[in-house]
Amino acid sequence: MAKMKSLIFYGAREVSIEEVDRPTMEKPTDALVKVTLSTICGSDLHIYHEELPIPPPFPIGHEFVGVIEELGKDVSGFKEGDRVAASCVVYCGQCYYCQKGLYGHCEKGGLYGCGALMGNLGGTQAEYVRVPYAQLGLHKIPDELTDEQVLYVGDILTTGFTAARKGNILPGDIVAVFGSGPVGLCAQVCAQLFGPARVIAVDRLDYRLEVSRQIGCEPINAAREDPAAKIKELTEGRGVDVAIEAVGIPATMAGCLSSVRPGGRVSAVGIFSQPMEFPLPQLCMLDISLTMSICDVQWMPALIKLIQNKKIDLTFLGTHSMPLADAAKAYEIFDQKQDLVLKILLRP
Ligand SMILES: [Zn+2]
Ligand SMILES: [Zn+2]
Repeated sequence: MAKMKSLIFYGAREVSIEEVDRPTMEKPTDALVKVTLSTICGSDLHIYHEELPIPPPFPIGHEFVGVIEELGKDVSGFKEGDRVAASCVVYCGQCYYCQKGLYGHCEKGGLYGCGALMGNLGGTQAEYVRVPYAQLGLHKIPDELTDEQVLYVGDILTTGFTAARKGNILPGDIVAVFGSGPVGLCAQVCAQLFGPARVIAVDRLDYRLEVSRQIGCEPINAAREDPAAKIKELTEGRGVDVAIEAVGIPATMAGCLSSVRPGGRVSAVGIFSQPMEFPLPQLCMLDISLTMSICDVQWMPALIKLIQNKKIDLTFLGTHSMPLADAAKAYEIFDQKQDLVLKILLRP
């Protein structure tokens, strides 16, 4: 059997590159994709910290772009050799949730690199990935775009876009994004597509807030000042029209709930692993709405068009580039936020 390199998760902070069987085609709706570029997601860190109830070992990673190596006979509109961006979510298009457009809840699909909890799919921090329902999950990369330009479209860009869209941002609105990590920065970029008057960025790390400032946001460092109080000060005491939660910890959710004006919207896309006390007395008279969403991959084709037409450029996120062989080191750097890291590109 042909072999390949794949990153395997063994337990808390233990990952290593192993030689494993190269995946093979299982169904006529599959494609086999040779990975040309992958990266580490903030949600991979939940696995890395063993916060999720998924028994190791299993292959890890869910963000990638690549080239079609083999194509099932039921997949049309693609050919072997096509460069493709892949949705991190695998979905069938036919089940109850897919028919409602809730692809992330597909009853037959899952998420790459999350073991038995999410469909037992391959990890994408690897040389090859089997893509089920390839017709739906793959999108051709326009010739003029590089892998680096489209790498984030299958997950964090779409998540950031979903955060902004679910916040129902209207022209002239004031938006606060809690989190200037990769997903928060994507949300800050996408919020600006909807024509807000101002976007405020909240984080605790100056180097990330400096990036937010460079993309047009007003930074608040929550390590030095109370973000909700500062936001009230910046909004004539009212609060923001839309607060976006892009971290996934109780403090940032509490910050959003304390910063939104009466009648405003809170849109959360962080992955939470801790419970929080919900401030019902503070919120019950506020007329706010709260949405909690995962990435809505049906927007991938639209986002690729926006990248192609230079309305979105996220290449600044790729602060580090390393061979896949050094993935264990890459996880350390990413986990500890060393060396002003935003995203680490892994090259098989
Ligand atoms: Zn992710
Ligand atoms: Zn489905």
